[in-house]
Amino acid sequence: MNMSLQKIDPNSVPYREVYTGAKIPAVGLGTFGSDRFSAGEIAEAVIGAAAIGYRHFDCASVYRNEKEIGESFRKIMSDGLAREELWITSKLWNDKHAEADVIPSCQQTLKDLQLDYLDLYLIHWPFPNHHAPGVDVTSRDPHAVPYIHENYMKTWRQMEKLVEMGLVRHIGTSNMTIPKLKLLLRDAKIKPATNEMEMHPHFQQSELFQFCVDNNIVPIGYSPIGSPSRPERDRTPDDTVDIEDPVIVKIANRLNVHPAVVCIKWAVQHGQVPIPFSVHSEKYWNNLNAVTTDPLTDEEMQQIAGIEKNNRLIKGQVFLWESAKDWQDLWDLDGQIASM
Ligand code: NDP
Repeated sequence: MNMSLQKIDPNSVPYREVYTGAKIPAVGLGTFGSDRFSAGEIAEAVIGAAAIGYRHFDCASVYRNEKEIGESFRKIMSDGLAREELWITSKLWNDKHAEADVIPSCQQTLKDLQLDYLDLYLIHWPFPNHHAPGVDVTSRDPHAVPYIHENYMKTWRQMEKLVEMGLVRHIGTSNMTIPKLKLLLRDAKIKPATNEMEMHPHFQQSELFQFCVDNNIVPIGYSPIGSPSRPERDRTPDDTVDIEDPVIVKIANRLNVHPAVVCIKWAVQHGQVPIPFSVHSEKYWNNLNAVTTDPLTDEEMQQIAGIEKNNRLIKGQVFLWESAKDWQDLWDLDGQIASM
């Protein structure tokens, strides 16, 4: 870590309130290193990020680094930070949706992260399908199935139990759509506190964003910079690049910052909770500093609203069942949940 980076006062970082009144710091550190960074490098970034003022960390068992990050949390807390000052999220992976697997999977995450409770536990994807890490996007698992609400609710009931057991303060969803969320809101005893979803200037998901806000669900934005370093397998020829957009670049030039910083400012001013990833201390420092300095003007916010390109980057092809048409089947674009 670059020791010359000034500490950012965590109290100067905006926050969003979930329906319980709990406060999520409006910028979190993503921890998915993909094939590029080792668990050790990410664990080191967690320590560095906490030292400069981050209080929110987005983890998941499928990132295969919770043990190493757990060591970081232990160190951060033994150095004096109280557990209550941190917001820690983790996620249930797709191969653990079965009723008997949910609670043990969360307990394993707690053990790995060396925590007594999570602030937020998400169902990572609304599909129970799983695949070997790094598989080609054209591969189809013969056991893969579409969203089946009855089964999702069985998983959700176990998530609710985790809250009742005190292991988890809030539960939430990820990669959901409006039709799926409507069913969940109808049937849940404990409502989702957040929905984690892809959001960046070229993929603003305005309708889903507004649905979440209207239903008291805090929208957490993943890939907020447009995931410029994502693996080849997650790229398609039509993808656009947010940080090269002339509108973003022009604002970045005015502020003398990297275009990534403009994306973070936009996200927070728009009402999202972005969780940008980097293990590089100058970059994660810039991402937190973004929200305590130089806001975008109303005009700039409007200009960014105008560069929406409906460019979904994380399409989820690997979750497709054999009879599915294409990746759009996962996202209920016509308002209907696709079936077999
Ligand atoms: P991001 O949009 O956060 O992009 C990350 C990349 O942007 C990094 O590789 C980094 O480059 C670069 N970057 C970050 N900050 C700066 C900066 N200030 N200046 C210049 N470049 C910068 O995308 P991710 O896909 O990584 O998503 C972030 C997080 O969201 C993940 O880590 C994960 O926690 C979560 N996520 C959740 C998903 C879900 O299904 N719920 C799906 C996908 C992600 P470099 O690496 O070179 O530093």
